[in-house]
Amino acid sequence: MDFFDLKDLHVEKDQKSLDKWGRILGDIREEVGSIAFKSWLSKLSYVGMTPDNVMYLSLPSKFLLDWAKPHYENKISALCKSHLSNVKNVKMILDENGNNNFAIEEEQDKNIQDNTSPLDPRFNFENFIVGKSNEFAFAAAKRVCETDKVVFNPLFLFGGVGLGKTHLMHAVAWDIKERSPKRKVVYLSAEKFMYEFVKSLRFKDTMSFKEKFRSVDVLMIDDIQFIAGKDSTQEEFFHTFNSLVDQSKQIIISGDRPPSELDGIEERLRSRLSFGVVGEVHKANYELRLSILMAKAEARKDIKFDIKIIEFLAKKINSNVRELEGAYRRLLAHSELVNRPITIETAKQLLHDLLRANDRRVTVEEIQKRVAEYFNIRFNDMVSVRRSRIVARPRQVAMYLSKVHTPKSLPEIGRLFGGRDHTTVMHAVKKVEELCQLDSAFADHIKVLKRSLGI
Ligand code: ADP
Ligand code: MG
Repeated sequence: MDFFDLKDLHVEKDQKSLDKWGRILGDIREEVGSIAFKSWLSKLSYVGMTPDNVMYLSLPSKFLLDWAKPHYENKISALCKSHLSNVKNVKMILDENGNNNFAIEEEQDKNIQDNTSPLDPRFNFENFIVGKSNEFAFAAAKRVCETDKVVFNPLFLFGGVGLGKTHLMHAVAWDIKERSPKRKVVYLSAEKFMYEFVKSLRFKDTMSFKEKFRSVDVLMIDDIQFIAGKDSTQEEFFHTFNSLVDQSKQIIISGDRPPSELDGIEERLRSRLSFGVVGEVHKANYELRLSILMAKAEARKDIKFDIKIIEFLAKKINSNVRELEGAYRRLLAHSELVNRPITIETAKQLLHDLLRANDRRVTVEEIQKRVAEYFNIRFNDMVSVRRSRIVARPRQVAMYLSKVHTPKSLPEIGRLFGGRDHTTVMHAVKKVEELCQLDSAFADHIKVLKRSLGI
């Protein structure tokens, strides 16, 4: 690190470099993106040039410099050289009094003063269609809104992408705002929480950060998995969490998996996250997908989609609701453009990429691989003759999943598991079903495996 007294540095601020400095800063922002620029480089200043053409730049804190130097020095150096052909080398140093004399920062910072994420007005309870897969999460979300008292804390909603978690959280926020306008509701993504936290460190303003988040009535953090592995953000979140719980303030969290499976999140935080109610948003089944689309079609009375088209979409696009809506919008846009009703044939053409992706079925081999990985045995053990329990049980699990989730027949599956008889497969299926009934820990393993295979 270059910690030396700036007075020892024989540099001169030459006019040519000063003239170019604004342009260079602009290019740096283009190159690294505006968020990274705002966070790390908006205070980058031009210090001066040495007689042998080494260009010195400075940042006003060690925190900024420690991050920016390894990440951006090369890029910045290349940009400086491209603007100023005489530059031989570029060095970044610490200078607490540095001043870049450019207004980029002020103009940028105005946009990020708001420390919450915006709420989508369409994401309300009325527009949320309830089915078997989301009824629990929906009921829990509604319950949180019904009273100003804390019934359970936190509410943790989890599930795969595009299944309605964010929609439910926004709905809660709208509902509480409407019922009790005085309550301070703060909704933001975990990413934004981290960003705000880093910003407060950077401006040495952690006190007001803490105050801001510890004085809310309802705190909602979306996509908590984002802070996995981000230790200091997690630490701060943990304290915020505890402080709010102590004050009986409501916390609502969403994630892509249950608290117990959040890798990279400290045990003490994971256990706190599962203290309240943990609700899973499952994949929507056909009926729910159909209802969601019907509701959409109804909201747009001007376009008459044949019910066959709606059924076709609901049947074929089964991955998540976001994709389903995307497919619907694509057809809508097309029919508006050409001013003709959509047929199944056109739908197939227009959506062939989505249809192909949704058609993708899991294979026996994928199941074998994943199960072997999960139980920490070798892939070969799936097809070997070994009978020891250590490998026999996982093998049965893989057979069971293959039977239930692939179109293969019992004899075919037997063959793929080292030439076993179809009765062995049948026995495995029965055994696994039995164990799922008797042993909830075992049933959980199956659930996790299914989720990781996307089935
Ligand atoms: P997630 O946060 O789980 O990734 P979102 O909440 O962003 O998913 O949902 C994706 C899209 O699907 C949104 O447009 C949302 O309105 C819609 N959606 C999901 N579930 C439902 C539902 N049950 N009823 C109506 N719209 C839904
Ligand atoms: Mg979301």
